[in-house]
Amino acid sequence: MALREELRQRIIDAIDAHRDEIVELAETIRQNPEIGYQEYMASDLLARKIDEQPGFEVEKPLGGLDTAFRAARHGRGDGPTVAVLAEYDALPGLGHGCGHNLIAGSGLAAAIGLNSVMDELNGTVEILGTPAEEGGAGKVFLAEAGVFDDVDAAIMIHHGGDKTGAPIAYPDGTCLAVAHLDLEYFGQTAHAGMDPYNGRNALNGLIHFFSGVDSLRQHVHMETRLHGIITHGGDAANVVPGYAAGKYYVRAASREQVEDVLAKVKQIAEASAAMTMTEVKITEHPVCFDMRPNYEMGTRYNANMEEVGLQLNGGREGRAYHSTDFGNISHMLPSVSGMFAISETPIPGHSQEVVDCSGSEYGYDQFIKISKAMALTVFDLLDDQQLMSGVKQEMETRDS
Ligand SMILES: [Zn+2]
Repeated sequence: MALREELRQRIIDAIDAHRDEIVELAETIRQNPEIGYQEYMASDLLARKIDEQPGFEVEKPLGGLDTAFRAARHGRGDGPTVAVLAEYDALPGLGHGCGHNLIAGSGLAAAIGLNSVMDELNGTVEILGTPAEEGGAGKVFLAEAGVFDDVDAAIMIHHGGDKTGAPIAYPDGTCLAVAHLDLEYFGQTAHAGMDPYNGRNALNGLIHFFSGVDSLRQHVHMETRLHGIITHGGDAANVVPGYAAGKYYVRAASREQVEDVLAKVKQIAEASAAMTMTEVKITEHPVCFDMRPNYEMGTRYNANMEEVGLQLNGGREGRAYHSTDFGNISHMLPSVSGMFAISETPIPGHSQEVVDCSGSEYGYDQFIKISKAMALTVFDLLDDQQLMSGVKQEMETRDS
C-alpha cells in the first residue's frame, strides 16, 4: 500500500479503536447541556481528553474566553496549519437541540485520528474549542484576539437533519448574516388602577417596537428574517411596567443588507420609545457574517465522506436561512462545514428531535463517519500541496 493510503487508513483505524470513548464524550455533553460561555464542563472534558493524546499542547483559556481552548499538534516539519473547530454550547431551555455535543466529539475524534499520523506529516493541526455559537459570537471574539491569524484553513462538522454533504458550488452552504440586539425600555412605575396617569409604560414601548418592525416586513428582501422575544414584560399586572426588555435578531443575505435593515429597526425602536414617552437602550452584539464556504475543500470533503461510507444526499444545497459565527471566519480564511444526517427522516432544527437524534445509534454512527471524513480532509490539506494551493486560490479569487 502506498504510504498515503496507509496513513489514511491509520486515521480511520485510530478513530475506530477509540469509538466508545469518543461517543461517551459526546453523550456526556448531551446529557449535561451548558449554554454559551458557560460550557465549563464540556470544554474542560474535551480539552483534557485531547491533552491525553501524546504530542498535543493545550492552551486554555484562549483569546480571553474561559471556555475556549487551542490544542495544537505539530508534525515533523513546517507546513500549513489546519484548524478543526469544536463547538459545545447548548440552547437555553432546550439542551443540545443543535447537536453541538457531536461537534465537540468530532474534535476528539479528529485529534485521535490525526495524532496517529502527524509524525509523518508537515504542518500543524489545531483543535479549537469555540464557545457560544448560539448567539454569543464566540468565534468572532477569538478572531479579534488573533486566534486565527496563523490558521490556513478551518473545518468542522454540523448535523444536517436528514441531509449529508458538503457544499461544492455557490450558493451552496451560504447562510444569512445576523445582527443581535438587546432592547431595554425604561418608563415610570405607578399604580395601574389608582394613578396610571403618573406612569410611563415600558412594556408598551417594547410592544410598539415589535409591531413597528412588522410594518417593515413588506419592505425587505426575500431572505430577510426579523424575529425576537420579550424577556421582561413587567413584574405585576397592577404595576405600570417601568422596565421591559427583549432580544431581537436581524438576518439578511449579506452584511450590507443587515446593516441597512438594522438602521431601520433601530429607528423603529427610537420611534416606539418616543410614542410611549419612554427611553430605549439598544445594546448591539457583533454581527455574524454570511457563510462563504470553500468549495474546493467541500469537494474533497465529499469524496472523503463517500470513502468512509456516508451516503451523500445534498447537504448544504443552496442558501440556508440560519446564521453562524463561522461566517466571519469564512471571510478570513478557507472554511467549510460538512453536514451529516442524524435522522433518516426530516426533523426540525433547534428541537427536541435533534436532542434525541444526537444521542441515537444512527446519529452516533453517522457522526463517527463524518469525523473520519473530516480528519481525512485535514490530512489531505496538510499532505496535498496542490489541494491547499487550490483552496487558497479560490479564497483569493472569489468575488466577495
Ligand atoms: Zn448549530
